[in-house]
Amino acid sequence: MAMRTDYCGRLSSDDIGRTVTVCGWVSKRREHGEHLAFVDLRDRTGIVQCVVDHAHDIRSEYVLAVTGTVRERPPETVNDELATGAIEIGEATVEILSQADPTPFQLSGRVEVDETIRIRHRYLDLRTDRMQRNLRSRALVNSAIRRAMDAQEFVEIETPMLIASTPEGARDFVVPSRLNPGSFYALPQSPQLFKQLCMVGGIDRYYQIARCMRDEDLRADRQFEFSQLDMEMSFVDGPDVRSVVSQAVGEATEAITGQKPKDIPEISWREAMNRYGSDKPDTRFGLELVDVTDVFSETDFNAFKAPCIKGIKVESGSDIGRNQLDQLTDKAKTWGAKGLVWIKVGASGEVTSPVAKFMSETEIGDLLEKLNAVDGDICYLIADDWKRAVHVLGLLRLELGKPPVNEGGLHFLWVIDFPLFEDIDDAGNPVPAHHPFTMPHPDDLELLETADKDPSVLLDVRSQAYDLVLNGWELGSGSVRIHRRDIQQQIFDLLGINEDESQKKFGFLMDAFRYGAPPHAGFAFGIDRLVALLVGEENIREVIAFPKSQSGTDPLTEAPTPIDAKQLDELGLRLLPPVN
Ligand code: ASP
Repeated sequence: MAMRTDYCGRLSSDDIGRTVTVCGWVSKRREHGEHLAFVDLRDRTGIVQCVVDHAHDIRSEYVLAVTGTVRERPPETVNDELATGAIEIGEATVEILSQADPTPFQLSGRVEVDETIRIRHRYLDLRTDRMQRNLRSRALVNSAIRRAMDAQEFVEIETPMLIASTPEGARDFVVPSRLNPGSFYALPQSPQLFKQLCMVGGIDRYYQIARCMRDEDLRADRQFEFSQLDMEMSFVDGPDVRSVVSQAVGEATEAITGQKPKDIPEISWREAMNRYGSDKPDTRFGLELVDVTDVFSETDFNAFKAPCIKGIKVESGSDIGRNQLDQLTDKAKTWGAKGLVWIKVGASGEVTSPVAKFMSETEIGDLLEKLNAVDGDICYLIADDWKRAVHVLGLLRLELGKPPVNEGGLHFLWVIDFPLFEDIDDAGNPVPAHHPFTMPHPDDLELLETADKDPSVLLDVRSQAYDLVLNGWELGSGSVRIHRRDIQQQIFDLLGINEDESQKKFGFLMDAFRYGAPPHAGFAFGIDRLVALLVGEENIREVIAFPKSQSGTDPLTEAPTPIDAKQLDELGLRLLPPVN
């Protein structure tokens, strides 16, 4: 039989007069007169005050079963901040179910606790309001996503964890095979290849809330393992995929905020770069980049004889001090700029700037007009090649205007028409912007043909890849896939993966494509990131039950740990002495 009749946080004036039993942890204990004590008892639903006899030796975090009668609190002790603040459990008898040592940190209120200590004692941290709220929100998001995908006739399929490598641009975590000494499984960086095989297999609509592992440096928005909504569908185009994903994201958002987001706007990658200097623009605020290259087309100012000049204007920003301006300039230099030009605007178009003397009156006039700058504003300019100018100004924009994580609402954005390649590496091979299975834009297929004569044209090839962005975080990526062997081989060739190698690594996919591959497209977005933003957390560790610390270790279980000699033998492994 259940040990309790009721939950702490659900008792109310309606229960007055009832004899109840509640179970939970002692959140607080206060003396009350000579013989009695107040005990705040906490369970997953909240807190209720119990009036108990002093005779009990009760300390914080003891686990109790408390039986007593619900009664109205005397008016002077009513607590409006507590859901159960109008009542208490009186004349309570207490059964101590478990004792507790003093906890290494305080569990109530928002106290700053060192993160390693929180993770080492995560089971205590999980008792806090913050972690209870975050993990429950996460569960709501997961179930909303499943609901949305099920409703759209997607089939949930689990793909294997022990696989051959899937290239997503990160290092693999590998697992030695005992039965095949010298061989290793990779843990999936994503289910990418399996979901494409599901399409060849006629599944038509696949999804999975998939765990992915990527061995990369950890950051606020990155852990080694993360969860994503992974999906793939056949006989569709990018817009179909985006509509399905928007639906799932919308339901997830509604589950937490109570409101469905508006239709998610789309912007091309180039426009995003031009207006925000980023492929994951934070559109909660303005400060857009403005192209002013034309203004200086005939300038005598050497620093402005550059292929691209971009500026941003900060309204009423001209009271910024010299020191801060120097700091911004230093930052711009660490981001790759040669320098940062600032121009303060005074009354009737007067300007103050260390470089004003190098500009003509017409240039200054045109510049202020383009940037719409008036008395009290300040303009920042970067002159460089296009890529660096937008990159640096994009970072400056964030520095000057990015709101805190929980302000400014939820601004979702689709960024479409990504380039197929983001760079050419030192060996002269293009680096894919998404993964190598992404279909080029049909209008740019011809450019691929001419690439052996002039590899730089490759950077102009658009792909059919798209990202979903929320408040400046990349939530996820997807694309229309290559479903033809010839185009796939052409891309592998361009990437410098020859036929032998592609056969070895992806032969199974290429083979599958021999037997009737439907055109298909898909997407994946990070659930950790979505939940973090929905609940207003800066770091995804706050929405993960058992995360790794910044250094990639787990202070709770102490993973990773060495393995013993017998295990190494079984796996056919010998350890080299550590390098250094
Ligand atoms: N496999 C990709 C990723 O994990 C997503 C996709 O292209 O569907 O980022």
